[in-house]
Amino acid sequence: MYGRGLNEECGVFGIWGVPDAANLTYYALHALQHRGQEGCGIVAAASDGSMKRIKGEGLVTEVFDGPKLSSLSGSMAIGHVRYSTTGGGGIENVQPFLFRHHTGDFALAHNGNLVNYSILRKSLEDRGSLFQSSSDSEVLAHLIKKDSAEAHKPRIFSIENALNEVEGAFAFLIMTANRIYACRDKYGLRPLVLGKLGDGYAVSSETCAFHVIGAEYIRDIEPGEIVTIDHHGLRSRKYTDDTSHHICAMEYIYFARPDSDIEGCNVHGFRKETGRLLYREAPADADIVVGVPDSSLSAAMGYSEASGIPYEMGLVKNRYIGRTFIQPSQELREKGVRMKLSAVVSIVKGKRVVLIDDSVVRGTTSKRIVQILKEAGAREVHLRIASPQIKSPCFYGVDMSTYEELMCAHKTLDEVRRIIGVDSVAFLSEAALFEAGRRSQLCLACFNGKYPTRLYQPIEQANKDGKF
Ligand code: SF4
Repeated sequence: MYGRGLNEECGVFGIWGVPDAANLTYYALHALQHRGQEGCGIVAAASDGSMKRIKGEGLVTEVFDGPKLSSLSGSMAIGHVRYSTTGGGGIENVQPFLFRHHTGDFALAHNGNLVNYSILRKSLEDRGSLFQSSSDSEVLAHLIKKDSAEAHKPRIFSIENALNEVEGAFAFLIMTANRIYACRDKYGLRPLVLGKLGDGYAVSSETCAFHVIGAEYIRDIEPGEIVTIDHHGLRSRKYTDDTSHHICAMEYIYFARPDSDIEGCNVHGFRKETGRLLYREAPADADIVVGVPDSSLSAAMGYSEASGIPYEMGLVKNRYIGRTFIQPSQELREKGVRMKLSAVVSIVKGKRVVLIDDSVVRGTTSKRIVQILKEAGAREVHLRIASPQIKSPCFYGVDMSTYEELMCAHKTLDEVRRIIGVDSVAFLSEAALFEAGRRSQLCLACFNGKYPTRLYQPIEQANKDGKF
């Protein structure tokens, strides 16, 4: 999938008991940059327990420099990269959040989306809470602090109670003066992994951040689990036994980096397997297989291996378009100025191409890519999609928000074929996703409308209200 504006909400990272924790967090956030490019931040805790935060809008390399990182001292830190969904953009929504409180400061970072956010926020405001941001993530902090019945008990009890009140998708990191709590939603919708570095520990949305800092993967944090990291080492407790393993299928299909492993399955390996299965389900008679860079290349390799049709680099991506690049005007766009993707004419000219993409959301990008291939002389283009048709919105932190914008929601396969302008089109089955991941549970709600959580308001009503 390429440049279609489908975005994951965020990535989180935390490290405990390692010198220069903020520096390592910087490198880790850089490895997680694909999960959010709108803003980022780091909170570090010094040896006296005092916390300092630096955050800003933009990429990790734009927000941080040497002097800023050196000002974040200590052996414990949490960090965050953000793409905004609930709450929108703006510096006040860039995380981690840092809360000053007479019982001790604490910082919080969140990946995901809370489906009962509006109800909880209203109830908290009615009880006197003042919110710093419009982000759903802040709700958890207020719930923890509002739990006055547990005020005399260790903080883990109020965290546990707060986690039982929120519903939806989350990987939360909470840092206090001397420990980090890493918490995962009871459906396991968002990934969260635990690693070891020297005498300390790290937690991350993806294992790719461990590779870059030299940490060793220990295990995935379980759905409904809170892992506490402090001078006692690691402690685990479940805040609920009502759990399942509905990790977001789009993590495997599109979001996560190919070098990451999620719940024991390598992302590149998963995608390659979907490519093989796609050939089994929807073979095409063609001369070359071309993948849409970058997230579809693994599936294209799998399709090529299974079919024996050579894999070719028919499309090339320009990697050096920064966020500040001046976008071409409408007039230039219409003249065909394509800054991001080009076809290799000598490869595709006169050929029957099997074009592999990982998913179709709005369909506009697929249409453009097919045009590029046809203008470069491709004789036929057969589109094969390494996931099922996306027909429903996501409520868990991925910006596929309304039925209207989803091409496959109200169209037949033949209409999709005609609109995109291909000779044939086919999508992978849901069964193939389970087979590729060698697992029996996944969130497939955007494909089949079966949401693993309560949604708190009818979907159609939410659409009408413009909330999703
Ligand atoms: S609805 Fe789709 S994008 Fe959202 S969490 Fe489920 S699988 Fe992922």
